[in-house]
Amino acid sequence: MVLGSANADLVVEVARRPLGGETVLGSDTRVLPGGKGANTAVAAGRLGAAVSFLGAVGRDGYGDLLLESLRAAGVSVDRVRRVERPTGLAYIAVTPDGENSIVVSPGANAALTPSDVDLGDAAVLVASLEVPLGVVEHAVAEASRTGVRVVLNLSPVAILSPATVAALDPVVVNEHEAAALGDALLAARSTVITLGARGALVTTPNGTTEVPAPHVTPVDTTGAGDAFTGALAAALAAGDDLVTAAQHAVQVAAFSVTRPGAQPSYPTLADLPSKA
Ligand code: ADP
Repeated sequence: MVLGSANADLVVEVARRPLGGETVLGSDTRVLPGGKGANTAVAAGRLGAAVSFLGAVGRDGYGDLLLESLRAAGVSVDRVRRVERPTGLAYIAVTPDGENSIVVSPGANAALTPSDVDLGDAAVLVASLEVPLGVVEHAVAEASRTGVRVVLNLSPVAILSPATVAALDPVVVNEHEAAALGDALLAARSTVITLGARGALVTTPNGTTEVPAPHVTPVDTTGAGDAFTGALAAALAAGDDLVTAAQHAVQVAAFSVTRPGAQPSYPTLADLPSKA
């Protein structure tokens, strides 16, 4: 079960980012399905996991695009609510080095409420934070109560209750988020810090393991962390231990950075050299 945002990504390539008060001209705009939650669900679905997405989109064309992309990845959209708000949008500027700058307009994602949470028979709950914090905390509490494993991609960074942090197995953050959160991560059951081209650092009660990333030439890193989280959760749901799951996730995320966009860049198992 993936709980999180669904956004249409409006992607424009620019030679460099505009400064305050400045205008730069970019490429034609590409409209791609994205949002941290939907990306994670599509990543796991494309890898063959049985995935249900819990989220909200508007009654507009962007909402249709997102539902279509989820369905095409084999993700159940039975728990997606259509609401009277615009579908979430992400304005993404990509520079020639493959780095991106993003503004998110949450729209429909902000309309999710705790009463939308229904974990069904999920083995793993995966959540991220572009939806209201109270909904995520409620879902994590439900998962804890019913013995469902919780993977939380704590992005964008938020301050969580101690009970929520204690349920995370693992909390997944990139190195910027890890630096911002500091000691707050220590109370989680396990931690995965993604390190871009350097892979990931996995910490469990048994110690810390470095998981190197395969060497690739990045084209567009949009959604790399979501690909990582979706692949990690799919492997955990299939019974892998956390380090093995992370070894699989770095392969999936590395593949995703070699292709443009978020969801369209995600591999199936057949696209990967081997399932680590
Ligand atoms: P985020 O996208 O959330 O900022 P990272 O930049 O840490 O997170 O990337 C997430 C994962 O994507 C990394 O752990 C790694 O597996 C993969 N990745 C990102 N950039 C590269 C790269 N240049 N080469 C190979 N893998 C990459």
